[in-house]
Amino acid sequence: MTLAILGGPKTKSTPFGKGQRFDLAEANELIEALQQNTLFYHYGKKVKQFLNDFNELYNVKYSVATTSGTASIHVALGAAGVSVGDEVITSPITDQGTLIGILYQNAIPVFADLDPHTYNMDPGSIESCITPRTKAILVVHLAGNPADMDEIMKIARTHNLKVIEDCAQSYLTQYKGRYAGTIGDYGCFSTNDFKHISTGDGGIVTVNSADEQDYLTTHAFADKNFKRFGDTVQKDLHYLAPNYRMSELQGAVGVAQLKKLPWICGQRHKYGDRITEGISGLDGVLPHKVADGNESTYWFYMMRIDETRLTCTRQQFSEALAAEGVPNSAGYIPEVIYMQPIFQKRQAYLGSHFPFDLTGITYERGRCPNAEEILKTAIRISVNEFYSEQDIEEMIEAIRKVALYYKKA
Ligand SMILES: *Cc1c(COP(=O)(O)O)cnc(C)c1O
Repeated sequence: MTLAILGGPKTKSTPFGKGQRFDLAEANELIEALQQNTLFYHYGKKVKQFLNDFNELYNVKYSVATTSGTASIHVALGAAGVSVGDEVITSPITDQGTLIGILYQNAIPVFADLDPHTYNMDPGSIESCITPRTKAILVVHLAGNPADMDEIMKIARTHNLKVIEDCAQSYLTQYKGRYAGTIGDYGCFSTNDFKHISTGDGGIVTVNSADEQDYLTTHAFADKNFKRFGDTVQKDLHYLAPNYRMSELQGAVGVAQLKKLPWICGQRHKYGDRITEGISGLDGVLPHKVADGNESTYWFYMMRIDETRLTCTRQQFSEALAAEGVPNSAGYIPEVIYMQPIFQKRQAYLGSHFPFDLTGITYERGRCPNAEEILKTAIRISVNEFYSEQDIEEMIEAIRKVALYYKKA
């Protein structure tokens, strides 16, 4: 059939399903928060309730609330003891929020390459990045899809490294039956407005060790290192920590949002897997791979285009798909993280090369070839819990139509 971009009929002509993320449940929680006459997390009940509910959902003992996903990661790094001149191994395809805490601790990011189809960190590459300075592995579970945690934990134990999981895009993501964020030493979540659930901004850190002291250290690191437990506050400060306290307003919205999370993740899981099923076996289209035994909750769906098997470029595929009525973007972030000026100029702080000059590290193109190739060949489409099953079937039909049209004879 003629492509819509060439004047043919459009595959998707009806609007995508939409829904209301916030309703009276959030409003009622907010009213209760205000009626407390305090919005301070330590005096009020909403942040505490939010964390209790989160712990119950995830079956973890300890978690700490923060102001953002970025803050959660910084707190985990601080609690893990990451400090000046340490190296932290992480992913080159992620949000900037993964890097910020590393650099604020004056630690040095080292980028491991990715699996070409799950887009998650490759354990072999992680191992090759380890030096005597390596302190932690900051695993990013990209787009709701879990990384290879068994292998990563094995490497971490062998080399005595901390493992921090960046789950900002991966709520209720399952790795071999366990939730991402409960396997490493810390799990970091974001409740910014673009994630599975929103409190406007906010975040959570799970503390997975059985050691209560680790929880207390983490809790304090999100609150200026004030040790605020029960009726006592201890302000005996031995090292620097930021103020990333969540307010009762965010906690209140979070209580209501958490109740919706299982449904949201269930919808996304079902829709993403259906897309994979619907486009598998197409020439020139590589689906978003989820390893056997795992469950993705698809923050987005990202397939790859193999231009050697098609008569079009990735860009033409993306434009043809958009013309069929399926909005999409070519790639995710424009370039791997280390191509940003921060790394190319080695300038985390204006007028300084610190901490990069501690080791003389440089960040050359070609360092993570799979990651670079992923961004050159990927097409990202959104998956949303409010889409209808018909929306998903029409998306599949549109991808199939474009791929078959451009199939090499
Ligand atoms: C969103 C995101 C963050 C940062 O979260 P904020 O709440 O925006 O600070 C960190 N890592 C990943 C992978 C993200 O998607």
